[in-house]
Amino acid sequence: MRPLDPRVPSGPIELKWDKHRFEMKLVNPANKRKYTVLMVGSGLAGASAAATLSELGYNVKCFFFHDSPRRAHSIAAQGGINAAKNYRNDGDSIYRLFYDTVKGGDFRSREANVYRLAQTSVEIIDQCVAQGVPFAREYGGLLANRSFGGAQVSRTFYARGQTGQQLLLGAYQQLEKEVARGGVTVYPRTEMLDLIVVDGQARGIVTRDMVTGKISSHLGDAVVLGTGGYGNVFYLSTNAKGCNATAIWRAHKRGAAFANPCFTQIHPTCIPVSGEYQSKLTLMSESLRNDGRVWVPKKQGDKRRPDQIPEGERDYFLERKYPSFGNLAPRDIASRAAKEACDQGLGVGERGLGVYLDFGDAIKRLGDQTIRERYGNLFEMYQRITDENPFEAPMRIYPAVHYTMGGLWVDYNLMSTIPGLHVIGEANFSDHGANRLGASALMQGLADGYFVLPATIGDYLASSKPDRLDTSHPDVRRVEADVSDQTRKLLSIKGKRTVDSFHRELGKLMWDYCGMARNAAGLQTALRLIPELRAEFWRDVNVPGSDAELNQALEKAGRVADFLELGELMCVDALHREESCGGHFREEYQTEDGEALRNDDLFAYVAAWEYTGPGQPEHLHREPLAFEHVALAQRSYK
Ligand SMILES: Cc1cc2nc3c(=O)[nH]c(=O)nc-3n(C[C@H](O)[C@H](O)[C@H](O)COP(=O)(O)OP(=O)(O)OC[C@H]3O[C@@H](n4cnc5c(N)ncnc54)[C@H](O)[C@@H]3O)c2cc1C
Repeated sequence: MRPLDPRVPSGPIELKWDKHRFEMKLVNPANKRKYTVLMVGSGLAGASAAATLSELGYNVKCFFFHDSPRRAHSIAAQGGINAAKNYRNDGDSIYRLFYDTVKGGDFRSREANVYRLAQTSVEIIDQCVAQGVPFAREYGGLLANRSFGGAQVSRTFYARGQTGQQLLLGAYQQLEKEVARGGVTVYPRTEMLDLIVVDGQARGIVTRDMVTGKISSHLGDAVVLGTGGYGNVFYLSTNAKGCNATAIWRAHKRGAAFANPCFTQIHPTCIPVSGEYQSKLTLMSESLRNDGRVWVPKKQGDKRRPDQIPEGERDYFLERKYPSFGNLAPRDIASRAAKEACDQGLGVGERGLGVYLDFGDAIKRLGDQTIRERYGNLFEMYQRITDENPFEAPMRIYPAVHYTMGGLWVDYNLMSTIPGLHVIGEANFSDHGANRLGASALMQGLADGYFVLPATIGDYLASSKPDRLDTSHPDVRRVEADVSDQTRKLLSIKGKRTVDSFHRELGKLMWDYCGMARNAAGLQTALRLIPELRAEFWRDVNVPGSDAELNQALEKAGRVADFLELGELMCVDALHREESCGGHFREEYQTEDGEALRNDDLFAYVAAWEYTGPGQPEHLHREPLAFEHVALAQRSYK
């Protein structure tokens, strides 16, 4: 594997990105069309990057398994996107966004990347406004802002509860314009099943046409993965059902290091699980915590209706424990506090796994109409799912898996350990450390796609000058054969258990042993059970149908096979990291007040895992993290 070199430019942090852009090699405008970039993914990261690279003059091929780019999971993002515009004049700045993000990530991210992210955030909003994204506005016309967790300023731009959808429509318009111009060719319903590496460089992908089953190779000069996160390893999550890890996992097996796989975000405000047969969880946006107050009854097992519980008998536990940030404490902290309340028998709802999110005070203060304007579609969604009206009774919420901070390791240029393979959006290990702040994923995906990758990929292309290659190359043929073999193998098992039953069982194992709280004994148990489950999968899975047709069971089987391997690596990573940080809460390492206790002497690094072959333990590489601008400190939101 290429040595882990983050390639962070020298110089003062606020000048690094400018200096780097000046120092990087450029591709002459007339030469750009000679290069082909294979973009996998058409979510906010992929669509923005594909459109921008094409605008720059590169020849782009964009692959996605959805039928339209507009169905990418990014469309589900509700609450908003952060940017250090300081429109509210409430003390925000690039430096403050940088500081909040490093601290919010519990000091496990790379300072230089985060600073660049904060700088770029300002440009993203201008770009999106120019595209016509209908952000909410104040009466005077200025873009409106609201607050999200982990910040004491209002810097979140939003379009009601549909921010991701509106941003994706903006990126999609740009993409379609480039498709019409001939700069981008799109390949819908096409799933990348492997990466082609020739002479150590990423040169192509092998795909399956999901309608006809045809396996094909596509070659180019660089490959970019914008394939989203892997939260669905837990089976139940707020992610769209289609989200999966296949693209990044198979690239990992071809040599791309996987960074911090165990860093998972559990979001505090989701609709609680209601039964054994549920296949999906629903997020209630964090923006609701601007006006909603989180509480549980003070008395264990209190079965009274919420309106019958007087003020004095309610525990507004976030406001009590974290008076400075209150209901807007960061996600990891708010989630753990809710779990703690439920573990103490104070939870509400039939299963006792829920806490109230109450808008009673806000409705009294601001009126129905204002609340409806701010959160109308979220309230409606809650009512449709639960049949309860949040204008009349508090919502019930509980934490759920939501986002993965881990992903493929990338350097400052967003290039993985395989030269030529770039990774953007949620698919990379990103800038969020051990905990992502609300509204920062959209910011990062669009920073990567609109601004960072378009600047850095030229440096790679100009420096590496890839040779011509055709699909008859033996390395290409070998990868194609591997893909066909795996497909045949899955279809030939003809066992008794459905793919979903394996996925559900894996998800439960992951939640129980590598979820909101982890400990060594539990992780060791998971590390014994997951390989057993994987072996059973390859013995007894039942994948009906054939490979020459639309076959969703076959698609799922491939994805679950990858989850069964990735899940194990997540547990290995969680076990090796003998500290608590952000979303990684090891029960053995906590302060007296039950907060995460980091060990900066031993673990202030990015853990980047190298695949070493089937059945072999992965090899750990460490990228040390230095904190020169935000002093390492115990996080406090009190
Ligand atoms: C319910 C919900 C609400 C959220 N709200 C917010 C919010 O308000 N603010 C915020 O900042 N963040 C939010 N997030 C997080 C944010 O939405 C995601 O992190 C972000 O949209 C990911 O974008 P992406 O482009 O990286 O990936 P995605 O949008 O997931 O796109 C992945 C793309 O890759 C393609 N793909 C994947 N695998 C393959 C393959 N093997 N072959 C071919 N194509 C493939 C898919 O077809 C798709 O086009 C939310 C997340 C959830 C779950």
